[in-house]
Amino acid sequence: MVASILKKRNGESLTKKEYETIIDGFISGDIPDYQISAFLMAAYFKGLNRQETADLTNVMMRSGDLIDLSEIDGIKVDKHSTGGVGDKTTIVLAPLVAAAGVPVAKMSGRGLGHTGGTLDKLESIKGLSVDMSREEFINKVKKHDIAVCGQNANLVPADKKLYALRDVTGTVENVSLIASSIMSKKLACGADAIVIDIKVGNGAFMKTLKDAEVLADIMIDIGSKMNRKVTTVITAMEEPLGFTIGNALEVKEAIDTLQGKGPDDLTSLCLELGSEMLVLGKIVKNKNEGIIKLKELIASGAAFNKFKEFIESQGGDVGMVENPDLMPNTKFSETYKSKAEGYITELNAMDIGLASVKLGAGRETKESPIDYGAGIILNKKIGDYINKEEILATLYSNNQSNFAKAEEFMDLAYKIGVKKPTSKPLILKTIT
Ligand code: URA
Repeated sequence: MVASILKKRNGESLTKKEYETIIDGFISGDIPDYQISAFLMAAYFKGLNRQETADLTNVMMRSGDLIDLSEIDGIKVDKHSTGGVGDKTTIVLAPLVAAAGVPVAKMSGRGLGHTGGTLDKLESIKGLSVDMSREEFINKVKKHDIAVCGQNANLVPADKKLYALRDVTGTVENVSLIASSIMSKKLACGADAIVIDIKVGNGAFMKTLKDAEVLADIMIDIGSKMNRKVTTVITAMEEPLGFTIGNALEVKEAIDTLQGKGPDDLTSLCLELGSEMLVLGKIVKNKNEGIIKLKELIASGAAFNKFKEFIESQGGDVGMVENPDLMPNTKFSETYKSKAEGYITELNAMDIGLASVKLGAGRETKESPIDYGAGIILNKKIGDYINKEEILATLYSNNQSNFAKAEEFMDLAYKIGVKKPTSKPLILKTIT
C-alpha cells in the first residue's frame, strides 16, 4: 500500500490489479483507514486518468452483489445527483416517474459533507427502512414500480466505506472519485439507463461549468463502455434548491411538490429530469410530451398516491406523510434576521449547508447521529428584497448551543446589495 500511495503521490498511474489490491484490502480491513486516506488525498491532488477511473469503477462495482433487473419488464431508469443543498429531487422524482410507468430501482446515498442524502431524508419518516435484500428490492420494483435502497453490506461495499472516509478527509471534490463512486453504484444496481444531475456552483462539489462538463464526459464514457445510456443534466447550485434544508423539512417540501404546491425551482428541475427519464424509458417520444405527462400525474394526485404506496411498501408511516406536521420537529427554533436592507445578491449554498450541519441535520464525523428535525427554512432567495431586521430564515435544532455556530455560517451566506441581480438559469446544459 505504501508503494501505491507513493506512486499516486508522484503522479503516476496505477494498474487495475493495484486498484483491486487496494479495494480488497480496504474492505477486508487489512489496509487501515489512514493509508486509504493518504491515498485518497494523493488521488485528489494528482488525479486519475480515464483508464484508471474506469478500472476503479469496475473494481468498486464488483466489490459486492450485482443486481440483475432483467426479470423486471420495461426499461429500468435510474437517477442520481452529484449532491447539492436542499436537493430533495429524488424524493419527488422517483414516485413521479414510477407513476408514469417507468420502473425505478434506486440505490441512494447518505449525506456527504455539506450536502444532504436521500436515505437520511427518507429515514426521517417513522418506520421507513432502506435496508433490504436483493430479492426484496427486485420484488418491490416488480410490484410497485419503485424501491429505494441503501448500500447494504452487499451493495458496492467499497463505495460505502470510501464515501464515508472521503466525507471526513476532505477528498470528495475530485472528478474521478465522484465518477467512480456514482457509476459503480448505478452499474451495480442494474438500470438500463441513467439520468445524472450534475450540480455546479458554490454549493456543489463541481465549482465550474468546465469541471461539470468533464465529469459528465467521464460518466457518459463509463456508461457507454458498460452498455448503458447516460444522460447528464448540468444544473446550478449557487443557492439551495427550494426553501428547506434538513431531513424532515425537505421531505415536507417534497410532499408539497408532489401535490403541485412546491417551489418553482424544485418543480421545474423535477419536470426536466423526469422528462429525460421518460424519454430514456421510452414512455414518451420527446421531452415536451414528458413534461405534459408529469404535470398531469401531479395534478391528478397519481404522483402523491404513488409516493404513499412507496412509503408504505418500505415500512414508513403513511399517516406522517398524509399529515407532515407529525414529522420529526425540534424543541428549539430561532429566527435569523437581515443585518442590512436591499436585494439578496448571494445566498451561498455551501454556507447554508454547513449551517444546517451545525444545527444537527448532517454529520461532522462518520459516527455523528442525525437530528432529523434540524435544519433551515429560508424565507427569501436570491433577487428578493429584504428590510433590515426582517426575517431571512428560521433555524431549527434540538440543541440550543448549535444556533450560535450555525449563525456564523448564516452570516457568511448572505450578501445584500442595492442592485437587483439578474436571474440566472437553473438548467445549464444537457449532454447525452
Ligand atoms: N455522490 C456520490 O454518490 N458520490 C460522490 O462521490 C459524490 C456524490
